[in-house]
Amino acid sequence: MKIKAFENKVWLSSPTMHGEELEYMTLAYRTNWMSTLGENIDETEKIICEKIGRKHGVGLSCGTASLHMAVRLAGEKLFGTPEPGKGALSGKRVFCTDMTFDATVNPILYEGGTPVFIDTESDTWNMDPRALEKAFALYPDTKLVMLAHLYGVPAKLEEIKALVRQHGALLIEDAAESFGATYQGVQTGSFGDVSCISFNGNKIITGSSGGMLLTDDGADADKVRKWSTQSREKAPWYQHRELGYNYRMSNVIAGVVRGQLPHLEEHIAQKKKIYERYRDGLSDLPVKMNPFDERNSVPNYWLSCMIIDRDAMCPQERNDLCASFTPQKGKSCPTQILESLAAINAEGRPIWKPMHLQPIYAGFDFVTADGLAEKGTLNDTGSDIFTRGLCLPSDNKMLPWQQDIIIEAIHRCFT
Ligand SMILES: *Cc1c(COP(=O)(O)O)cnc(C)c1O
Repeated sequence: MKIKAFENKVWLSSPTMHGEELEYMTLAYRTNWMSTLGENIDETEKIICEKIGRKHGVGLSCGTASLHMAVRLAGEKLFGTPEPGKGALSGKRVFCTDMTFDATVNPILYEGGTPVFIDTESDTWNMDPRALEKAFALYPDTKLVMLAHLYGVPAKLEEIKALVRQHGALLIEDAAESFGATYQGVQTGSFGDVSCISFNGNKIITGSSGGMLLTDDGADADKVRKWSTQSREKAPWYQHRELGYNYRMSNVIAGVVRGQLPHLEEHIAQKKKIYERYRDGLSDLPVKMNPFDERNSVPNYWLSCMIIDRDAMCPQERNDLCASFTPQKGKSCPTQILESLAAINAEGRPIWKPMHLQPIYAGFDFVTADGLAEKGTLNDTGSDIFTRGLCLPSDNKMLPWQQDIIIEAIHRCFT
């Protein structure tokens, strides 16, 4: 019998509100701090610094803006202040996570940098330290590494930090997806020279939008505060010596984030339950959940993902814009599963397509554990995970009975 579609869509990851958000937004309204200044911003910065264990936080309009400011900061630290209109990284290489959302990479190009993509490892689906080591051997003068923690699972920070230190480089940590996850008991967002988190609508907690830059260096935090408010000098008129941006967080948005913060751990607990229900419910199929290093890390379980065993994959074709598959008895593929989920009104998603396969980034170098790869290679760990993996509906508000139906729909793909 066909499975009946959900009346209300089950989302991949949608905002989960609790009431306090509205109170703090209303506070901004009542006190007329309808601006990029106010108590909500100050409190949000303070609470997040305490939670993550950093000295300074700067609330910004989104995670991407935070990453842009982080890149700008690192560039100026390494190479000095550029001429107005020139990027702070002009022509400089940056070693960058390959399998991530493109917001990790775009800021490198905003500043004229040249990303070198580093392949993914299969233990945590993050940057492969062996490939990073190869990249440093190829380009030993590279001074900046951009590291993302995918789907809320911390990367191999010990190995990566050791390489970064050994080469006197700086680390920018993109913890947009991993707020609340820990590595060796320490919060992600505390490992970069500069780190960034995001409050985009689909993240573990949200402000509808928003982001934060984190650092232990007070002078750096002050710089970002200045740059993100159009680089106004302390003068009676609008006086400018440096390039400016309008990137500051709104006090209304900060109210939403402030109201969400008490619920971070609750969201993580809900996401963990979802992950474990999938893990148990799918354990009889030739699939595995997205892995993490149980010895060193506790993820925030932001998205539950699965990967199909190689010999259980039916033929699947993907070009740049669409996908198809050929059904086969006892086998399946991400395309088939995503279509089956869509048919019951549940939202899954392919794995983030690796950057070296994106038309915009295909011309840049890509380094695997074997060294510099051929352009457009599919013979790498990231491409393999993209081919065989998918993100499952992971919404906090999904009920156990709904998840059981999703698990049943996945089983039917393998009959
Ligand atoms: C969401 C996300 C960002 C960008 O955050 P925004 O707030 O949407 O700008 C950056 N990097 C990663 C890995 C993300 O998932």
